[in-house]
Parts: sequence; structure tokens; C-alpha cells
Amino acid sequence: MDKTTDIYDKINGCAIMRNISQGEADSYYSYLSKGCKLCQEGAKMVLFVTGICGKNCFYCPLSNERKADVTFANERLVSSDYDIIEEARQMGALGTGITGGEPLLKPEKVLRYIKLLKSEFGKEHHIHLYTALPLDKNILEKLALAGLDEIRFHPPVDIWNNKMENYSDSIKKAMDAGMEVGMEIPAIEGANKVSTIANELGCFLNMNELEFADTNSEAMKLRGYELRDEISNAVAGSYAIGMEILQTTGKGHLCTSRYKDAVQLRRRLLRIAERTAREFDEVTEDGTLVYGVITCNGEVNSTERVADLLSLLGVPEELFQINKEEIHIAAWILEEIKMEIVADVKEMCIIEKYPFPGGMVVEKIPL
Ligand code: SF4
Repeated sequence: MDKTTDIYDKINGCAIMRNISQGEADSYYSYLSKGCKLCQEGAKMVLFVTGICGKNCFYCPLSNERKADVTFANERLVSSDYDIIEEARQMGALGTGITGGEPLLKPEKVLRYIKLLKSEFGKEHHIHLYTALPLDKNILEKLALAGLDEIRFHPPVDIWNNKMENYSDSIKKAMDAGMEVGMEIPAIEGANKVSTIANELGCFLNMNELEFADTNSEAMKLRGYELRDEISNAVAGSYAIGMEILQTTGKGHLCTSRYKDAVQLRRRLLRIAERTAREFDEVTEDGTLVYGVITCNGEVNSTERVADLLSLLGVPEELFQINKEEIHIAAWILEEIKMEIVADVKEMCIIEKYPFPGGMVVEKIPL
């Protein structure tokens, strides 16, 4: 029996005794912060403040596109405050997770965004922040005053064995400033040292199942990490380590690789899809949108001629929309009338895509 199954069974067998609850997608917890609860609902906007970071963790999953001084609200590139507010509105965000890179390399920006979100959505809009830096009283008090609700410290792995005083000190000061405080680290060998400190300080510890990404796979392989199986990006053994440490962590949470995709991301996409779907878009259970696309042949007025034909065929005007040289239309209608609209048309297809502008196309079925 492999170690993962062994521990999984033990936890299932004595969940009440150890006060550990099973979440979705094999995640487990003895404590969930408010930030985690909202994240589980898919109700947190991810505000990526900057991709710059001086830490160089070998497991850093940031894509090359993000390793720059760029700001994103979810997948939307931010060029003004308006983009942040618009994205939060679009998904009906109940809170925001501020991340990076190292967001506190841009402290003024972070403070401004916290104030902006709180003034726009009220103090109940819950904001948590990740940082890999130890922080002094001055910045912690400024963050708390701006409205930050929760802070999670990510001490780099090379100091877990001994030099954690700066982080312990920051955690105490963050608690004194009135914020909910935790640590967030990957579930790998040595994480038990961080758990001990979390227990001593009374803060929560989130462990993430370690994952391979395009940009970290070389460094991970060099250290001997391997994929758990062929269908996920999870690292073999990380889950078992996390489960073991969870049993001795007072306020702990193990978030699995599958959980992030299967639950968090899907719920966030669903929130966006349900709010942005046009009359004729079909929202799938994965939070993607399905609709038909008619690409006109580009001749003068070809789009208008096809649109007129659709009206003649009795397609209600709310069930199609002209989009430059394309006409977007309910997929089921396009399936029905495709043989009747071949003139002026270059291509017809059914598209399934992520529910935001420029969102990834998951599937394209030519008709
Ligand atoms: S602290 Fe975070 S962003 Fe910075 S290198 Fe480490 S994992 Fe990457």
C-alpha cells in the first residue's frame, strides 16, 4: 500500500478524534481561515500585484509571462484601477486575495488597492495578502489600517530549519495589529518545522500539495521530485507529507492540487460565466461558455447580409450578435440552420471558451 493511501485511510478512520475534517477533492483541514472559505466558494478575486520577487524558490510556479512587473486581476491585465473594480464586479467577488511575485515590493500599490476595494465594496469585502517577506510594525499597521483582514507569511524553505525568528516576530506583530495571521508553504520535507512554529504562535498553517509547472519542472527534477501519476501535475509524496503534518498542526489545512482546479477555479469561472453570459451563451458545469460562430467571407456587407438572413429565418434578435466579421449565435440554432446560410459564409463552428475577453478556447467544433 502506498503512503498516501495509508494515511488517507487512517485519517478517515479517526477524523473525529483528531478533529480533522475532509474537504472536497481530498483536501483536509482542522481550521479554515475566512480567506480560505471564500476561496472555496470561488468568490475571491485574485489580484496579482507584481511578478517581481527576490526569493527564487525552486518550486516557484510563476509563468514567464507573469515574471515581470505586471498586474492582473484574475486573468485581466490591469492598466488602471477601473480594471480591478470591473473584474471584481464581473465575478461578483466577495473578497480579494493579493498575491504575486512579492506584492510588498510595491507597498504603496498594495495599500492603494486595499483602500480602493474597501471603499468600492465595503469593509465586508474580505482581503487577504501573501508575502514572503518578514515585515516590521510600521508596514503591518499601515496594512491593517488600510483594511487588510488576513495575512499569510511564506517563509522560504532554506530558513525553515533555523532562521525563522524574523517571521515569528512578524506574525506576532501582525496579530497585535488585529489581522488574522497564518503561514502558507508547500507540503514538502521540513514543513513540520513550520508547523511547530505555527502551533507555538497560534497562527494557522496552510500547506499546498506541491505541483510541477512549466517553469519549475527542471529545478524540481534536479532535486529528485517526480510526478505522482500521469494525469496530474502533483508531486509524488507531497500529499502524504502534508497529511502527516496536518495531524500535529493545531490550525492546519492541506489544499490539494486537484482541489485548486476541480473546485476553486471551476467555481470562480462559474461565477464569472453566470454573470457575463449573453442571452444565447450556454454556461457549462465547468464554467465555460458555449456558442456558435459564423465567420463571414469578408466581402462588402457580407455580415449584414447574413444577419438579415438570420432574421428572415426567424432567429430572434437577442439570440445572435454581430461581432466584427463574425456573428455569434446560440449553438443549438446554428446546428439547425447551418445548411440554409452558406452564402457569404467562410466558416461555421461551435466554440467552448473561458468566460472572459480573450479567454482560452477549450474546444472548437467545425460545422
Ligand atoms: S516567494 Fe513566491 S513568487 Fe517569490 S519565488 Fe518564491 S514562490 Fe515564487
